[in-house]
Amino acid sequence: MCCFSQAAEYVRVTGDDWTRLGELADRYAHFIGHRAYLRMHDGHCAALAVQPAPGGGFDFFCTIYGRRPQTCRDLGRGSPECAGELAAKAARVAAAYQVETQPPRPTQRS
Ligand code: SF4
Repeated sequence: MCCFSQAAEYVRVTGDDWTRLGELADRYAHFIGHRAYLRMHDGHCAALAVQPAPGGGFDFFCTIYGRRPQTCRDLGRGSPECAGELAAKAARVAAAYQVETQPPRPTQRS
């Protein structure tokens, strides 16, 4: 859910992020004014792949996971911020893809 937004200025791309993206920087990031952001497409980050899942529904995955910006790295899976993203956006995204929402899976902590 955290990869979805209608905002053009959603994920800031810093100089370090741009360097980490390397040759992919121009493809997935661009400047708006004096600041760089991830490009957005169809209401989500352009780097998010959406593919039909074998059992129905859709699979969503980050195609630049190892090079994703620091903002994406800082949002921990299962964190309160992650839960907030789910609460705020799950219904809208599910409606857009015509899939049922499912409660988030509990995460294990060591
Ligand atoms: S870079 Fe990856 S994790 Fe970050 S918003 Fe885009 S698809 Fe999501």
